[in-house]
Amino acid sequence: MSAPNAVSALSHANVLSPSVPAVKVAAGRVLAHVPCNLCGREVTRGVHNISRLVECLNCGLIFVNPRPDFSELSHLYEDSYFHCAQPTFGGYEDYEGDHDDILRTFRRRIARITPLLATNRPQHLDVGCATGIFLEAATQSGWQTLGIDISSYALERARAKGFHVERGSLPGLALPEGSFDVITMWDLFEHVPDPASLLTACHRLLKPGGVLAISTPDAGSFAARLLRGKWLGFRCIDEHLYFFSRLTITQMLTAANFAVRDIHAVGKYLSLPRMIARLRFYTRIGALLLQSMDRLVPNVSMHVSSGDTMCVLAVRS
Ligand SMILES: [Zn+2]
Repeated sequence: MSAPNAVSALSHANVLSPSVPAVKVAAGRVLAHVPCNLCGREVTRGVHNISRLVECLNCGLIFVNPRPDFSELSHLYEDSYFHCAQPTFGGYEDYEGDHDDILRTFRRRIARITPLLATNRPQHLDVGCATGIFLEAATQSGWQTLGIDISSYALERARAKGFHVERGSLPGLALPEGSFDVITMWDLFEHVPDPASLLTACHRLLKPGGVLAISTPDAGSFAARLLRGKWLGFRCIDEHLYFFSRLTITQMLTAANFAVRDIHAVGKYLSLPRMIARLRFYTRIGALLLQSMDRLVPNVSMHVSSGDTMCVLAVRS
């Protein structure tokens, strides 16, 4: 477990009182104020002078406030989200084109989850399954999979691969109580408008002793505290609504009756072009050096971890 939270790295500007109006209009958009999703309080302060990024003064949860309505945000996740020119600011440059690297990344995650499972043929739900690459890795490991997502584009591709998927989100989608041994949520938790309710829904769907696996950016990581407002994790405001530390995600899971078993940093297999795109965000010279390597050794992928994405494994009590 790392430092408790990112409080020490935060600015002290923009204290928001509970008397702020519930809804306001900015730049043609309707933005809604929300209380802290972890403790329910409404007193916050600004974070790194990033517009609308705040930290709860009571519990330390960092979140976007005010924010657009989710009906607006849900339109983000169609075709262009999986093929976007600037992936460092949200979305993917070519999600299916990176299939092999993503599959290798997911196999490593399955290896960490497997020792916690009570069966080697678990009933599995992947929340935010995208085009089904994790479903593919899980199926290869003998898991009985179901995927859900809100993206029609992604689900069409997952169905074309033969996977059982349904359109919808949690809570909301009617699935049988206590029917899963494992639920996975990869790079999803920071996107949802009400993560506490999502955890309650997962608790209802899991069997006692069932495993919940979550990956999400770690706002308390060394990289996030060092880079402050320049941290890549903070560049996706609105697409990312919450920024958890190891402490705040543990508190939210505990409140939802989960026991956290393991939190560890996770990386990804990345090709050189994908590494260059991420490095370019921080250093043009470094990106140019890597680009020259790309000409010498094309088609190389490596497992890269900057320590600022965490994987949390928790058990339903
Ligand atoms: Zn709070």
